[in-house]
Amino acid sequence: MFVITMAAGASAADTDQAVAAAARTGAGTIVSRGDDRTLIALFGGALPDLSGLPGVQDVADVQAPYPLVARPSYAERSEVKVGPVTIGPRTFTLIGGPCAVETHDQTLKSALMARSAGAVLLRGGAFKPRSSPYDFRGLGEEGLRILADVRAETGLPVVTELLDQRDVELVASYADMLQIGTRNMQNFALLEAAAETGRPILLKRGMGATVEEWLLAAEYIAHRGNLSVVLCERGIRTFENSTRNTLDISAVVVAQQRSHLPVIVDPSHAGGRRELVVPLVRAAAAVGADGVIVDVHSSPESARCDAAQALGHAELGLLGEAARDWSRLAGRVTEEQVPAAGRIPAPLAS
Ligand code: PEP
Ligand code: MN
Repeated sequence: MFVITMAAGASAADTDQAVAAAARTGAGTIVSRGDDRTLIALFGGALPDLSGLPGVQDVADVQAPYPLVARPSYAERSEVKVGPVTIGPRTFTLIGGPCAVETHDQTLKSALMARSAGAVLLRGGAFKPRSSPYDFRGLGEEGLRILADVRAETGLPVVTELLDQRDVELVASYADMLQIGTRNMQNFALLEAAAETGRPILLKRGMGATVEEWLLAAEYIAHRGNLSVVLCERGIRTFENSTRNTLDISAVVVAQQRSHLPVIVDPSHAGGRRELVVPLVRAAAAVGADGVIVDVHSSPESARCDAAQALGHAELGLLGEAARDWSRLAGRVTEEQVPAAGRIPAPLAS
């Protein structure tokens, strides 16, 4: 399948012209827009003559079954913007916050803790997928309101899970980035509904999914026009039961080789135990991940969700050091070192 890459500065009219040129050969087209590139996938038809068309950067014959998210050999990996934050190959993005939003106080305190360790995005679930229906399943819309308040108080854009297609408009109206959890990676209707909001999407790997299935899930989102997808390796099910999941660190490298999308790691849901989290952050940075998403809680021992893996005050210093120092060894900068505009505000005095 041929994929046309439009240059970063290409206009909508340039894209329309390229689409029209492709259509004249009888090809069907899918346009997918990201923050640093627009791609046009061509189905059927012949390769159009694109010479002289403005804004066309390249055309590649992509063999992968996920043409829009595949990484053609010439291409740089892409960047995804979440508000003022850029996730991609230059940076190492720390996302932190509670597994679940419980109260305003708990969310604010956890967010300030995460920010003090260098987090530039706030995580927190208002709709929680739980293995047991008797467990705390989140505050729903009240949780989203708390996240919006804490965003206003801390300046941290919000990443929160979209669990159900029926809530797509509600969650998108509060979230800066929509998380699709491991249990929903192949919920294709949910992927498409999330894509259509135009919000950037954090796509966790299914706990039983191959890398190819994960990239095909990302393709579902791209195919609906939304190329702002960040992949998240969060551990897979194996025979090993000394950890909650097995962090598949190789998958970070494989996914980055096969796809242009950023890839981050969730060491909290992978390890499942607090003492594993910082070492796994180091591993993620060392292997070249584009960031990590970490559970941080103001009083981990009383967390209503995933208490065993939440980092508290005692671990924050080590978390910040691991993210900053180990990613620097891998050639990255953390967000506060990015000279570009749109830095997060200075920490509030707490
Ligand atoms: C989470 O991040 O809160 C979560 C439920 O993660 P996962 O979907 O990876 O289990
Ligand atoms: Mn959790």
